[in-house]
Amino acid sequence: MSGIVAIVGRPNVGKSTFFNRLIQRREAIVDSVSGVTRDRHYGKSDWNGRQFSLIDTGGYVIGSDDVFESEIDKQVELAIDEADVIIFMVDVETGITPMDEDVAILLRKVNKPVFLAVNKVDNNKRLENAVEFYALGLGDYFPIASTNGSGSGDLLDAVIEALPEETNVEESELPRFAVVGRPNAGKSSFINSLIGEERYIVTDIAGTTRDSIDTKYNRFGFEFNLVDTAGIRRKSKVKEDLEFYSVMRSVRAIENADVCLLVLDATRGFDGQVQNIFWLAQRNRKGIVILVNKWDLVEKETNTMKTLEQEIRREIEPFTDVPIIFMSVLNKQRIFKAIETAVKVFEDRSKKIKTKLLNDVMLPIMENNPPPAYKGKYVKIKFCTQLPTPQPQFAFFCNLPQYVRDPYKRFIENKLREEFDFKGVPITVYFRKK
Ligand code: GDP
Ligand code: GDP
Repeated sequence: MSGIVAIVGRPNVGKSTFFNRLIQRREAIVDSVSGVTRDRHYGKSDWNGRQFSLIDTGGYVIGSDDVFESEIDKQVELAIDEADVIIFMVDVETGITPMDEDVAILLRKVNKPVFLAVNKVDNNKRLENAVEFYALGLGDYFPIASTNGSGSGDLLDAVIEALPEETNVEESELPRFAVVGRPNAGKSSFINSLIGEERYIVTDIAGTTRDSIDTKYNRFGFEFNLVDTAGIRRKSKVKEDLEFYSVMRSVRAIENADVCLLVLDATRGFDGQVQNIFWLAQRNRKGIVILVNKWDLVEKETNTMKTLEQEIRREIEPFTDVPIIFMSVLNKQRIFKAIETAVKVFEDRSKKIKTKLLNDVMLPIMENNPPPAYKGKYVKIKFCTQLPTPQPQFAFFCNLPQYVRDPYKRFIENKLREEFDFKGVPITVYFRKK
C-alpha cells in the first residue's frame, strides 16, 4: 500500500491545478501506457521515489462557485475517513474566508497529519500576505503557486515524511481479492455467501470498527485474503449513496488488492460509477473480474447475456479481455466460478514468462510487423524480457525507443495477451534503448 493523500479546500483555491500538476508529471514520465485518463479526481503520483495516491475531493463538488457548506463538510469528512495525509488548500488572493474557517475547525480536531498549503503565492508581496493564515490555528503553512509549481517541493517533502511506512502487500503469497462496486450491487451478500455469516457476528459482539480489511479465507479449496469494502467497514456519517463516496471507499481496498472483483447490479448495468471503479483498478494495475450480479432478475431472451457482455466490453476499451461472469448470489449461481476466475487472474498476474520463450514468440511477430518508420527512421527491436515486478511489465530493447508510438505499443500488448493469456490483467510495455 502506498498511502493516500487528499486535497481539501473550497472551490477556486487551485486544488485541481495542483492535482493535475502532480498527476501529469507522473503520467508524462512514467505512465506511458495506452490507458485513457478517465478519472481526474484520483491519480497516482510520486515524489522522491515514493508513490502515493492523490484524491482531489473538491473535484466532486458540482457548480464550484455557489457551493453549499455542507458539501465542503462532507468532503472534509471523506478525507478524514479515507486519507492518510490531508492537504488543506487556501488562496492568498482572497485571504481567509468563513468557509476556510469552518474547514479549519474540522481539521484541527483530526489526528491525522494536516498540511496547510497557501496557494497562488506568485510574488513576494503575496508571500507577506500569506502570514494571515496562521490565524487558522493549523500551525506552519506552505506557500505555493500551483500554476508554476513553486513551493510544492517543500510541501511534498513534508507529505511524504508523514505518510505511513510503505508496506509491500504485493509480496503476500495468498491472492488478495477486493470486492468492490456500487452500494446495493450485492457485495455483502456475495461475501456472506462465500464466507458465511460468522464474521459479521464477531464484528458485532466486539463492537469494533474494523479497519483491518484483510482477512484470510479458505473456500472451495482456494485460500485467499479478502479485502473488503462492504458491510464490515464503519459506516460513515457521509451518506452512502453519494457518488464520490463509493469511489473513495474503493480506493484503499483496491490499493490493497491483487485482484478486484467488481460487482455490479445486472438491472442497472455498467454505468458511469461502475466505470470509475473499473478504471481505478485498471490504473492501479490490479487484476479485474467483472461480476454481473442479480442475474436472476433479468428477463432473458436469446441474446441477452451476449448483448450485455458486448456492451460492457465496449465500455472498457481498449482493455477488453476482462473476464465477465453473470452470477446470482441469491441463487448461489456461479459464485464458485467467480472465485475460480479470480484465482486464475491472480495466477496470470503473477506469472513470469521465460525470456527465451518470450523472445521466440515475440521476435518473429515483430519482424513480420515492425514499427512503422518515423521521420524516415527505422526502429529495430532486438530483445525483450519480462521485468521482475509484481505485475506484468515487459521491456523491449531497441535502437530508437522514442520513435515507437502508442498504436504499436498497443499492438504489442495485444499480441502478448493473445500469446500468453493475461485475461483481466493490466500489463505494461516499455521500449528502452539498447
Ligand atoms: P479548484 O476549484 O480548487 O480546483 O481550483 P482550480 O484549480 O480550478 O483553480 C481556480 C483558479 O485559480 C484557476 O483560474 C487557476 O488558474 C487559478 N490558480 C490556480 N493556482 C494558481 C496559482 O498558483 N497562482 C495563480 N495566480 N492562480 C492560480
Ligand atoms: P452491497 O451494498 O453491495 O453490499 O449490497 P447487498 O449485499 O447489501 O445487497 C443489496 C440488495 O440486493 C439486498 O437486498 C440483497 O438481498 C439483494 N441481492 C444481492 N444479490 C442478489 C441477487 O443475486 N439477486 C437478487 N435478486 N437480489 C440480490
